[in-house]
Amino acid sequence: MSDIMSGTRKIQEYREDFPILSHSSGDERTVYLDSAATSQRPRQVLDAMTRYYETANANPHRGVYALAVASTEAYEGARSKVASFIGAASPQEIIFTRNTTESINLIAWTYARSILKKGDEVVIPVSEHHSNLVPWQIVCAETGASLVYLYLDDDGYIRDEDIKTKITARTKIVAFAVVSNVLGVEVPVRRIVEKAHEAGAVVIADCAQSIPHERLDVQALDLDFATFSGHKMFAPLGIGVLYGKKDILKDMPPFLTGGDMIEYVTEQHATFAPLPQRFEAGTQNVEGAVGLAAAIDYIEAVGYDEIRRVEKEVTDYALDTLGGLPWIHIYGKAREGDGRYPVMSFTVDGIHPHDVASILDTEGVAIRAGHHCAQPLMQYLGAHATCRASISIYNTREDIDALVAALKKAREVFG
Ligand code: PLP
Repeated sequence: MSDIMSGTRKIQEYREDFPILSHSSGDERTVYLDSAATSQRPRQVLDAMTRYYETANANPHRGVYALAVASTEAYEGARSKVASFIGAASPQEIIFTRNTTESINLIAWTYARSILKKGDEVVIPVSEHHSNLVPWQIVCAETGASLVYLYLDDDGYIRDEDIKTKITARTKIVAFAVVSNVLGVEVPVRRIVEKAHEAGAVVIADCAQSIPHERLDVQALDLDFATFSGHKMFAPLGIGVLYGKKDILKDMPPFLTGGDMIEYVTEQHATFAPLPQRFEAGTQNVEGAVGLAAAIDYIEAVGYDEIRRVEKEVTDYALDTLGGLPWIHIYGKAREGDGRYPVMSFTVDGIHPHDVASILDTEGVAIRAGHHCAQPLMQYLGAHATCRASISIYNTREDIDALVAALKKAREVFG
């Protein structure tokens, strides 16, 4: 991308790539601190999707005419781009889904359901998002397997002892978010993968909160499956990715069935298409795939080092500022040498998180409040809800100043 030169731009300039951030009501600046829920999209992504509709829209894979070929090329081109972006061995290992939730459900309903039996165990951290928790509850209940939890220490990190003792010969699947959407701390991916593989288990890494900030290399990490959502990494809603090692994917039964995933159908039987089409029933989200490819171009043009630099500067400033307010309590603590991701959950003494978020909204500051789809974690932390501020490349120190001013206002209102 010619207008982005890695490492040379001021933070304010990234903000200018995102048209929604300059749409404000009156004089108010849009202070968007909810990127962990969904990021905003840069103009480059919006333009790529418009261009697709203006020049290449048709149903992919089906027609032989020029537009259908262009649409197929756009879709398959996006798949190849995703494959190289995450270091997959082949584009056949990339399945497009709607989001992380669908990717994990696909694994649970096909792979897990076909291999789990009574006495087997699925291991997950207690900090998981419901999308990496409820599917396991259901599949375990159906197959007779047990769901086993890894618990956390006071800083929010998975206890070492739990990794050592709970991943055993009974474990068939270990599934974890690389970065918690509540605590913003990273799990020890390599250690868990090593322990899981020693035990003969398959590893699923939910990269929804890590891939917007850190390069994913599925082969270097030896992941069996990885999942993520486009909408958290500058791409549109409705496009997600399931990566799976070809050796595992090729033997998995199909998930959704119908058009585009078959090879041959008779009145009573069907055979299925090869990878990856066999897991992509129905008309594909080409616009989403094109937007995801453009988002990858955007990330590559800025560079992960630059993304981390900008986000770290603003996150450190936020942690210092909020940490200095005695009536704020931040959950999860970065350890020396461990990355703190730009997601901060906190509570404000004497004010319910939903009330905090409502007052902040009146001040033009958007944060998230609630259980963040992680109710077992909330129960474990003894909190019903928290506020969550999350930061992306378009946030600045000014946004944090606005957050702090609005929090002080909330304290005044609730006196
Ligand atoms: N996993 C994690 C760690 C998340 O933070 C989220 C969303 O917040 C999800 C999974 C689910 O993502 P989606 O709603 O895009 O499926």
